[in-house]
Amino acid sequence: MKLGDQKASSNVEDRRGISVGGGLGVGSVVIAVIAYFLGFDPGAVLNMAEQVVPQRESREAPKGAPADEMGQFVSKVLGSTESVWGKILQRSNSQYRAPTLVLYDGQVRSACGMSQAAMGPFYCSGDEKLYIDLSFFRDLKTRFSAPGDFAQAYVIAHEVGHHVQKISGTFQRMETARGRASQSEQNQISVRMELQADCYAGVWGHHAGIMNQLESGDVAEALNAATAIGDDRLQKQAQGRVVPESFTHGSSEQRVRWFKRGMASGLPKDCDTFSAGSP
Ligand SMILES: [Zn+2]
Repeated sequence: MKLGDQKASSNVEDRRGISVGGGLGVGSVVIAVIAYFLGFDPGAVLNMAEQVVPQRESREAPKGAPADEMGQFVSKVLGSTESVWGKILQRSNSQYRAPTLVLYDGQVRSACGMSQAAMGPFYCSGDEKLYIDLSFFRDLKTRFSAPGDFAQAYVIAHEVGHHVQKISGTFQRMETARGRASQSEQNQISVRMELQADCYAGVWGHHAGIMNQLESGDVAEALNAATAIGDDRLQKQAQGRVVPESFTHGSSEQRVRWFKRGMASGLPKDCDTFSAGSP
């Protein structure tokens, strides 16, 4: 990526090196490990993991773009998503309410409960913050063989995609629908949510291209990452077999296809994963 001219977002909270106190019960650690293999956004899991003694954080987290290289990178990517979604929402006469990105290491407390780095990056709709432990980017490169700065940016843009779902009311509708659904229906709703977030990441990528922020090979990096974190690929790695009914994020093919769709047009309306018969 070429982010030299991109202004870093100040909507960043740097909780790296800040201990949260308390601890997760054994049961929730097991759940967390399972959630990791299922993918991102362990929202439902987090609710189950509320077995923690609340404690105050040891000190206030600094706000604003961190000065280190990775901190600058994520702040600039976040800044780029703010410009893009700001412009898109302006066209329909609404204002973009930007989310906050929280950097942490080890474990973190959010409005969604306690979570651990092993769960991967996630968005918490309760506090409208994205949570990223930068060790995930190392995993992306080594464990999932998906290197590259645009692969990392795609992960951030995907979480921002969930925030767009929150402010557009999709999150709310999904929660309502999930309340009366069976487990396999819930999983299907979750897959549609995730694929839409992938498509929104593509929408951002389209506009990042227009802003001259992409380099050759960038799109291939994102597609490679989307392939690497498809449910079928992760399940095969974790348990040697694939159980499509248990998918919560979509197959590699689906993730790639929806990212490409957003990337091609740059239009959020092309990201309707809910009306498509089979997404
Ligand atoms: Zn997601």
